[in-house]
Amino acid sequence: MPLLDYPESFCELTRQLRRLPSIGPRGAERIALWMLRSPHAHPKALAEAIHNATQHCQSCEQCGFFSEQKICSLCADETRSGKEFCIVERVTDILPLERTGAFHGRYHALGGKLSPLDGIGPEQLRITELMDRLHVERPSEIILALSGDVEGEATAHYLAEMIAPWSIKITRLAQGLSAGSGVEQADAVTLQRALMNRGDYSL
Ligand SMILES: [Zn+2]
Repeated sequence: MPLLDYPESFCELTRQLRRLPSIGPRGAERIALWMLRSPHAHPKALAEAIHNATQHCQSCEQCGFFSEQKICSLCADETRSGKEFCIVERVTDILPLERTGAFHGRYHALGGKLSPLDGIGPEQLRITELMDRLHVERPSEIILALSGDVEGEATAHYLAEMIAPWSIKITRLAQGLSAGSGVEQADAVTLQRALMNRGDYSL
C-alpha cells in the first residue's frame, strides 16, 4: 500500500517552490496550499509577473542596474551630473544610495569585488566597462562606495591604481563600525578605517 501523498501536480509545484532561495520543504508546502486555496492567490497574475520580469528586465549597458531598456532611466536622465561617478559592488547597492538623496551623479556597478580565493579577478568585474565610460564621460570625481572588508579594500586599491593616470579625484565613503557590531567583532581593516575617519564627538 503506497503512502498517501499530494497529487503529482501539487508535488511539482512544491518542488519548483523549493528551488527559491530561503524556501524549505515546509515553506514550499505552505505556499502551495495557499496558492490552491486562497482567493487572494491569483496564481495566473503571479506566473505572468514572473514571466514578464524575467523576460523584460535586463542590465543597463552603462551602470549595470536593472532596466527594461538598454539604458536605465537613471543613466538616461540628462539632468543628473556626469561629473561624479559612484562605484558600487552590486547593482542592489544603487537604490539604497539613491534613496539617501545625497548623490546626483552617475553610478557604476562592478558586479562584485576582487576575491582571488573565490576566483574573482578584475576580468570577472565590470572594470573594462568602467574604463570605457571614463573615456567617454570624463567625470571629475570618482566615489568608491565599496565595503570596508579586505576584498573591498583590495578592490578600492586596484581601482585607484587603474584610475590614477586619469588625474581624476578619487574619494571613498567614510567607513565606520556597522550598527550593532562592536569593536571586538570588527576586523582590523574596519577598525583602522573607523579610527582614521573618526569624527568629533565632543559636546
Ligand atoms: Zn544605468
